[in-house]
Parts: sequence; C-alpha cells; structure tokens
Amino acid sequence: MKTKILVSACLLGENCKYNGKNNKNEEVIALSGYFELIPVCPECFGGLPIPRVPSEIKDGRVYSKDGADLTDNFLTGAEHTLYIAKESNCPAALLKERSPSCGFGTVYDGSFSATLCEGNGITAQLLSDNEIAVFGESKVKKLIELYS
Ligand code: SF4
Repeated sequence: MKTKILVSACLLGENCKYNGKNNKNEEVIALSGYFELIPVCPECFGGLPIPRVPSEIKDGRVYSKDGADLTDNFLTGAEHTLYIAKESNCPAALLKERSPSCGFGTVYDGSFSATLCEGNGITAQLLSDNEIAVFGESKVKKLIELYS
C-alpha cells in the first residue's frame, strides 16, 4: 500500500488559487507513482471564495490586500487540513511554497510588495507542530527519498 501524502491542490492543477488559477506542477503530479496523494486547499476549507483578494501574514495574523483580517478563516482551514492529515495517517505534506497557508520556511512579508521573509504559512506551521513533515514543491526529490 502506498504511503499517503497531503498535497496542495493547486499544485495538482486545481483552480483554487486566489486568482482562480492553479500552480500545476508536473513533477508534483508524478508523485502519484510513489504515493497516494490527498489534495487539500486550506484557504477553501477556511471558507474563502475563489477567486479572492490575496492575503499575507503580518505580525502573526493574516490580512487580505484590502485590509480584512482573515486570521480565523486561515486557522479554520489549517485545523481542517490537520484533521485530514491525521485521519489519513499522512506522515508528510508537499505544499505550495511562499503561500500564507502552505508556505514553509519563506513567506511574503505582509507588505504586498513581493518581498519575502522567513516564516511559515498558517497550515504549514500547524502541520509541522503536529509532527507532519512539510516539504515545498522544490523538495520533491527529498520527499521521495525519505518517504517512498
Ligand atoms: Fe494552493 Fe494552499 Fe493557496 Fe490552496 S491555500 S491555493 S492549496 S497555496
């Protein structure tokens, strides 16, 4: 039986990104040869619409570009994603880099000026806090090496 891995749905080609598009990545899709992929979109789970105004993290909270505090939506989405990870027994997640939900290690700095800073998306942080290993899409090979 293949190991189950959570994957950001936008990387698999689902049009769940803030602008109604996706981040389709063939290398990520090819992971289905090694794992059972469980698609998740924390921002959709948190009740946010598609399309939606983009958001960034500032001082531990999440704000849309038009100034709405969406922290509760992001926390709800993160909890739902963690629930799925635990129910599915996923040891790891492959998530979209730099997203305020899915990014791990580096995210945008909250100024909406395409500036990056150190930090984790809300969901990536919660998964990591619960011993689920988080990888970005540039670390596909590492994920295969460690978990297949
Ligand atoms: Fe992709 Fe994650 Fe953003 Fe959903 S929340 S669109 S899965 S990066």
